[in-house]
Amino acid sequence: RPRVLSGIQPTADSFHLGNYLGAIRQWVAMQDTHDTFYCVVDLHAITVEHDPKLLRQRTRVSAAQLLALGIDPDRATLFVQSQVPEHPQLSWVMECMAGFGEASRMTQFKDKSTRQALDRVSVGLFTYPILQAADILLYQANFVPVGEDQRQHLELTRDLAQRFNTRFGKTFTLPEAYIVKDTGKVFDLQDPTAKMSKTVPAGVVELLEDPKKVAKKIRSAVTDTGREIVYDVENKPGVSNLLSIYSALSGRSIEDLEKAYDGKGYGDLKKDLGEVVVEFVTPVQAAVKGYLDDPAELDKLLAKGAERARAVASRTLAQTYERVGFLAG
Ligand code: ATP
Ligand code: MG
Repeated sequence: RPRVLSGIQPTADSFHLGNYLGAIRQWVAMQDTHDTFYCVVDLHAITVEHDPKLLRQRTRVSAAQLLALGIDPDRATLFVQSQVPEHPQLSWVMECMAGFGEASRMTQFKDKSTRQALDRVSVGLFTYPILQAADILLYQANFVPVGEDQRQHLELTRDLAQRFNTRFGKTFTLPEAYIVKDTGKVFDLQDPTAKMSKTVPAGVVELLEDPKKVAKKIRSAVTDTGREIVYDVENKPGVSNLLSIYSALSGRSIEDLEKAYDGKGYGDLKKDLGEVVVEFVTPVQAAVKGYLDDPAELDKLLAKGAERARAVASRTLAQTYERVGFLAG
């Protein structure tokens, strides 16, 4: 079975619809066909200022959400990144393979370091794509199901792997980004030209938010001039975003939805979509609560996942160290 790895940051109290439709939905589906490794990437979450207590809480809530959304710990290896020390160990080697110039070209860094009012932009935020490369290469992943915003980081990962292989002999599998077409980028409801993001909370639909608030957020989504409900990303980014979300959650095609809303108004679309989203989040919230009611059990499950992950990661790291010229441990 082809190998899959992906991760998500515990940087907010809840995942949002973009995380689910852009990434996690594929994670769930791929469990049936691939050998899957999924992690909560807490090492990445400290690249921006954070609160330790909150981070621990969010790490558990993140794992609980993955389980509630359908990740099955018997089929997938579900773990927390900091519990597998091979990640930062391989990351150092990869940092030494990466050029300063190429790391400087990462647009996510440019966005995050300028969009957020950070007291200090950390070196960790700058090198985070390299740690991400290590996350992927440790597991010899063939595919990485992510949102569109991660495409450039995947390219960097491939370049680093290729460079290492050329210099030291074939060690790493070159991974491919697995990005879905329609919901690879879910847009912010208040600014439908920006991606929905955990750390830039504007029009973000959180999975764990009060369902009444969820419906209200969707009802107050920015729509476009005109009144027709048609999918046209260029001229109608707001409506198109709502149609993509609607289609993904309901399983109805965009054309089908366009026909159904022919002659109706934006208000009708938003009201109905609100109901669809509420119907989706309600059982997820109940399931998350169930997992969080027993944190000891959850921690045990994650420790088991980390053990399974380490079995694979330590093999890749040992081979890498040997190739680089370190003495055997
Ligand atoms: P942060 O703002 O902290 O970076 P995020 O919302 O970007 O948070 P991540 O944890 O960085 O979330 O990303 C988890 C996964 O969700 C990644 O695969 C990412 O590509 C995907 N993703 C994030 N935002 C969107 C979006 N708006 N549409 C589609 N996929 C997304
Ligand atoms: Mg992100």
